[in-house]
Amino acid sequence: MRSAQAFALLGFLTLSLSSSGADRYETILSKMRALNAKYPESTEIFSIGSNDDGVEIMGMRISTTPKEIDPKKIGHILVGTHHGNELGAADFSMKFTEDLLARYQSDELYKGKLSETEWAIIPVLNISGYNQTNRYEHGVDPNRDYPGPCIKGDGGKLKSIRNLMEFMKNRVYVGSLTVHGYVGSLTYPWGVSTSNTHTEDHNMFEKITAKAAEFNDYQIGTSTDVVYSCDGAYEDYAYWKYGMWSLLLELRNGNAEDISSTSLAIASYYDQLDSSPSTHHTLNGECTRSRKPDLHNE
Ligand SMILES: [Zn+2]
Repeated sequence: MRSAQAFALLGFLTLSLSSSGADRYETILSKMRALNAKYPESTEIFSIGSNDDGVEIMGMRISTTPKEIDPKKIGHILVGTHHGNELGAADFSMKFTEDLLARYQSDELYKGKLSETEWAIIPVLNISGYNQTNRYEHGVDPNRDYPGPCIKGDGGKLKSIRNLMEFMKNRVYVGSLTVHGYVGSLTYPWGVSTSNTHTEDHNMFEKITAKAAEFNDYQIGTSTDVVYSCDGAYEDYAYWKYGMWSLLLELRNGNAEDISSTSLAIASYYDQLDSSPSTHHTLNGECTRSRKPDLHNE
């Protein structure tokens, strides 16, 4: 191309980067700060530590006493954006947070329950990927960087993942959600390649996700059966390691209507959970490579 065209293209790329790329995480932080200013009694912004770029990974604690972790409350965790190209994950995480905080103010019944609950919401874990619309972080798939029942090693090539795993030790979490796109599904363990995809909690998972999916008409089932099997994913780690009631949300398309209806579905999901994690969360089946392979997408 000629230099004038190249110059115009460079200008366009620079403009694109400044408006939607490098500033993208800053936009999420601005929304978090705005919610913190609007709801100072119910929110606290915290860091789980920095990533490999030295950037702090921020989250919000939502509780009637948000300044400190209160282990007496029922803990829930939500981790958005492992894959930086799935932009709807951060949008969903913020919409769910807004809806939750609005409910704190308006719904007296829910408020009673919320006074016993504490939420940790981390909208974006893979910050550089999110800013670059890139699935990977430093060339590593963050959602294959956890330990699991069918792989050796401790995981955590990425500092973001190591810091999240440390953060998960800070208290007991009962419910867990991780957000991806775009299948249109609510799925639960196992997502590893195993001869028996059903956990001992299968019936409970099926029951609560079926009720939740009434809000958005998503597919439900195990991650292996509905999406595909893989090793080293957060959603299996949270269940396998801690017995958290761990849900993998694959948004349908991430548009406003999808996000709004799914926010209601996920509120229903958390609402239905017991007050403690599962106590029988080991893998019973054999690890096998015979099931659907890891497609490295979604
Ligand atoms: Zn994903």
